[in-house]
Amino acid sequence: MSFFKIIKYWFTEATHFEGTIVASERIGTRIQKVTIALPSQIAEPFHIGCYIQTIAWGCIPRAYSVATADTRTFTILVSFSGGGAGARFFRDAVVGDKVTCYGPFDDFPYHYGTGRAKVFFATSTGVAPFRRMIEEAIKENVNSVLLLGSPKESDIAFKKEFEELSRKHPSFTFVPCVSDADASWSGARGYVTDQVNGKEEFLGKSDVYICGIPAMTFGVLGALKGIGVPKNQIFVQKFG
Ligand SMILES: Cc1cc2nc3c(=O)[nH]c(=O)nc-3n(C[C@H](O)[C@H](O)[C@H](O)COP(=O)(O)OP(=O)(O)OC[C@H]3O[C@@H](n4cnc5c(N)ncnc54)[C@H](O)[C@@H]3O)c2cc1C
Repeated sequence: MSFFKIIKYWFTEATHFEGTIVASERIGTRIQKVTIALPSQIAEPFHIGCYIQTIAWGCIPRAYSVATADTRTFTILVSFSGGGAGARFFRDAVVGDKVTCYGPFDDFPYHYGTGRAKVFFATSTGVAPFRRMIEEAIKENVNSVLLLGSPKESDIAFKKEFEELSRKHPSFTFVPCVSDADASWSGARGYVTDQVNGKEEFLGKSDVYICGIPAMTFGVLGALKGIGVPKNQIFVQKFG
């Protein structure tokens, strides 16, 4: 399909709806967690790993991965780091505001039944698709690790939920990596890319999922290539 046909399809024929913001919460200084209600109840929640194309001010499209979903609502994490139209639209939006949404579009599925452990690499809002994938790994009874990069501890989305999951389920390990940590931080420091060192053997036997801005995804991909993780075990969603 040509570029213009894809655009025409998105804005005329693709499934779209008018959502209503029902909750909006600031996480640290860099993320807005926004819950959008669907116009009516649907049979099943949006698929794991899907994204929604929102339209800011009626004309500017921005894609957001669906972090959580039920049959009436879905939640997205909006980064302020880009500082563009999407960030400003969701920063200023209030409960009750309408948002035109296209999709959902499925392009980052969770791969069931491989028997391999799952390793999830994310920075900031890149954690969105992994919120539900981790629950699937727990249900499948395979080991999983979330390596989540953030400049500050206060900017980590779903921190309490991940800590709770790792307490309840020994098969899940949560490794927040803080690059600009306060002196009191006792967890991992630096970037998620640094975490590849020392885990070569485990990564080589795992399915590896990467989600976030291009600089981070290329960094992790390069590190994985360097240690010979097979391509068919690597799944990427690039935010741009
Ligand atoms: C399939 C898909 C799923 C996506 N899911 C999410 C999501 O769940 N949450 C989310 O916040 N974004 C997500 N994005 C990126 C999102 O669509 C926007 O491009 C991004 O949030 C920046 O939008 P903006 O309007 O604020 O800034 P823009 O005006 O689009 O960009 C301004 C500058 O910021 C850079 N930039 C873009 N994204 C980021 C970022 N996340 N952090 C730092 N710098 C950035 C751009 O390269 C550009 O130089 C996704 C993109 C794709 C393609």
